[in-house]
Amino acid sequence: MTEPAAPELAVVIDDDYTMRLSCGKILAKMGLRAETFEDGARGLDGVATLKPALVIVDLKMPGISGMEVISRVHEIDPQITIVVITGYATIDTAVEAVRTGAYDFLPKPFLPEELRLIVNRGLERHRLAVEAKQHEIEQSMLKRRFVSFISHQLRTPLVAVHQYLDVLKHLDQQDDVHRAKGQEWLDRCLIRIDELQNLIGDWLTLAQVEGGTLSKERIKVDLNPVIPGILKTYEETALEKNITLQAQLPDGPLFVWGDRNCLSVVFDNLITNAIKYNRRGGTVTVSGSQSRGEVVIAVADTGVGIPEKCRPFLFEEFFRVKDDSSKKTPGTGLGLHISKRIVSEMGGTIEVQSEAGFGSTFSVRLPAWCEPAEANGEQTNARREANIDRR
Ligand code: ADP
Repeated sequence: MTEPAAPELAVVIDDDYTMRLSCGKILAKMGLRAETFEDGARGLDGVATLKPALVIVDLKMPGISGMEVISRVHEIDPQITIVVITGYATIDTAVEAVRTGAYDFLPKPFLPEELRLIVNRGLERHRLAVEAKQHEIEQSMLKRRFVSFISHQLRTPLVAVHQYLDVLKHLDQQDDVHRAKGQEWLDRCLIRIDELQNLIGDWLTLAQVEGGTLSKERIKVDLNPVIPGILKTYEETALEKNITLQAQLPDGPLFVWGDRNCLSVVFDNLITNAIKYNRRGGTVTVSGSQSRGEVVIAVADTGVGIPEKCRPFLFEEFFRVKDDSSKKTPGTGLGLHISKRIVSEMGGTIEVQSEAGFGSTFSVRLPAWCEPAEANGEQTNARREANIDRR
């Protein structure tokens, strides 16, 4: 069972006993925890220990003035919402108080309903400020984790290359055995450098997707010739593993409304994976269809499959399944994340069905291009794009 949330806390600082009493009662009726203090000094101590969501402060008090209380409360915690209560004679000062950081003011005398209204609004503002702060902290933690992860990923192959080259430098090149060994180390260096290049390449693509600089063209693209074109570039790689590549596409076009380069990045990633994580002698089938305003491209393989427990994390940055097949296969863990970002920018979805040990099918659903003659298509496509941008 989940614990009920603790009531939010409001502090009232006012030298007028009746005012403290009535504010306390109204706040308690609103389901809040209320603490009252009779002067600025005690009030500030209370704020420092209790860290309330909201402070209601009278501007005119003996000792520390309401104005000073406002600035000192914000020194304690800038997110606390401050509401000023004031007599009509001090309205100008109240306006000044709002300028210096108070959220709002309420002239005396006021009705309980007026206080409730202003308190509710103030608490809502506080909640939003706390959420925004939390989000900011999470983002900066993610950024730090991302930078340290990337540094680690870059450093590991570099350290390996450095070590191989160091040994090679001291190797007796006249000795046949050593020469053969030297060749092997050079090959390993090249593999590590390839890994580095792939990581940097994927990382740059991700930065372009995130920064919105990857070509954002929105045109009518026929995927029917695009898919066989991509498959063709993988014929040699597939042959090395004796993998059959096949396309099952309809006779007619498969028009989508998108960016040709980005679409190639997506299907390139999916087809590479279908080959990389396939078994020797396996098959990769890319099929396409169109129905109900959607084009669906499915990339199916007969490879290692993806364990069920890993599927929810598959599209996260740097995620790789921790099994023998992934360990043996070089990769960055960025391809699927990039693909998902691109597909959703085009208003589509990407999902996976898989059975560990038997293969996987990645299905990309994209909004189909509407023919202008049929349904005022130019406008429909443009409107759809505007909706995607607004998301
Ligand atoms: P990479 O392949 O560079 O590691 P991806 O983001 O493309 O990165 O894929 C993330 C992980 O998902 C891979 O490391 C692999 O474990 C798993 N994966 C992706 N596609 C497939 C597939 N077709 N079959 C099995 N596992 C896959």
